[in-house]
Amino acid sequence: MRRLLFAANWKMHLAPADARAYLQNFLPAYAARTDRDVWFFPPAISLEAVSHAIARRPDLRSGVQDVYWEPKGAFTGAVSAPLAVQTGAGAALIGHSERRHVFGETDGDTQKKVAAVAAAGLVPVLCVGELLAERDAGKTLAVVSRQLEGALTDLPAAALATVVVAYEPVWAIGTGRNATPADAAAVHRHIRQWLRARGQAVPRVLYGGSVNLKNIADLLAEDELDGVLVGGASLDPAGWAQLVQTTAR
Ligand code: PEP
Repeated sequence: MRRLLFAANWKMHLAPADARAYLQNFLPAYAARTDRDVWFFPPAISLEAVSHAIARRPDLRSGVQDVYWEPKGAFTGAVSAPLAVQTGAGAALIGHSERRHVFGETDGDTQKKVAAVAAAGLVPVLCVGELLAERDAGKTLAVVSRQLEGALTDLPAAALATVVVAYEPVWAIGTGRNATPADAAAVHRHIRQWLRARGQAVPRVLYGGSVNLKNIADLLAEDELDGVLVGGASLDPAGWAQLVQTTAR
């Protein structure tokens, strides 16, 4: 059985002091469970505060929300994978829909980012997912395949073996609409087949898009889902602790 992964994407919320206060609430409310991992993706400015606060909890991990592919240099405003490693980060989101659709990130960018992240020893969490118009046109699997190809082709096998994929339909992120468990499972099956065909033995595939306390049980009842990537519902420490503590498989 693959371990469940609950990943919290704080987006542009929770500065260092807020992050410390959040974890003071969260840590006593969530006792480690042997069947699951919980990862936090704070804004880069709060990474060190988060890594420090969770240092005694090996079941918890911090990660960076985005990186630039160059390791260092004159790239004002950017954060590299090796810099994120120095803050204690263990993972990196790549190609989140807000990076793709607000900041214009391309499949070519995601390829360079995944390679840089893997080379730095971080776990790449590659986000893929279709727009509503693409879904309505029946193109979901084609879009997801294109995004996987774009980001992961040419990645060395050892690096590919570390990749986690998050299926996040763009129309479900922050909208209160989520994919049905069956719809999500169909896309997960496709992603898993794609990865297995390229030699990734036990890929972990997460679902993201308006996951909350009310819908998580139904989603995780689907065996294809190895966990969730959650934005809005991860911002309240008590609610997030309840979600990760109580959700049964
Ligand atoms: C996300 O930010 O990846 C996300 C899925 O957001 P939300 O849970 O708010 O839809």
